[in-house]
Amino acid sequence: MKKALVVLSGGQDSTTCLYWAIDKFGKDNVSAIGFDYGQRHKKELQCAADICADEGIGYEIIPTPVINQLAANSLTREDIPVEETKPEGAPPNTFVEGRNHLFLSYAAIYAKTHGIADIVTGVCETDFSGYPDCRDIFIKSLNVTLNLAMEYNFVIHTPLMWLDKSQTWELADKLGVMDIVYKKTLTCYNGIAGEGCGHCPACFLRKRGYEEYMERKENV
Ligand code: ZN
Repeated sequence: MKKALVVLSGGQDSTTCLYWAIDKFGKDNVSAIGFDYGQRHKKELQCAADICADEGIGYEIIPTPVINQLAANSLTREDIPVEETKPEGAPPNTFVEGRNHLFLSYAAIYAKTHGIADIVTGVCETDFSGYPDCRDIFIKSLNVTLNLAMEYNFVIHTPLMWLDKSQTWELADKLGVMDIVYKKTLTCYNGIAGEGCGHCPACFLRKRGYEEYMERKENV
């Protein structure tokens, strides 16, 4: 059986991907990796570690403070407040330039070292809000690049690529883990697990998606 490595931050999206991977590859073949880049809501990594411990999944946190040194923003700097609304036509100030590019490259190096070719990430083009390294075309391009860089047949899986937030909840529900995702993950920019602060952009999207899905479910 093939082995898979999940890039797991402890948020709703990557946690749903963890369970997608468990369903597809089998629990014994799944491991996960997270990155500590000095994010202000470091509690999310603890959420990820707790979820993996509950499932008996190996989880390794890789320190990548270099990202914070290269580019400071409101996710990594206490003195830059998180904007409640994003400026027109610009990415929100929680955006970390090139983050997914770096994380997936680090993940690929780690994966090959551990004999793993399948990498799972929760990036999503549907919620694309100016994050160019979340786009499908970028992931496909990086997949080719990584294969050439390391002479290895990586397959980058993006189960959420074309889902909106309500469909991500639906996927969690189908996988039978909606309750776990609802209670144990941390998406909130203000670092509050589960339901979150309720008013930051991440909480707003998460809540709206949840309500949309619940409404759809009730009407079936
Ligand atoms: Zn929040």
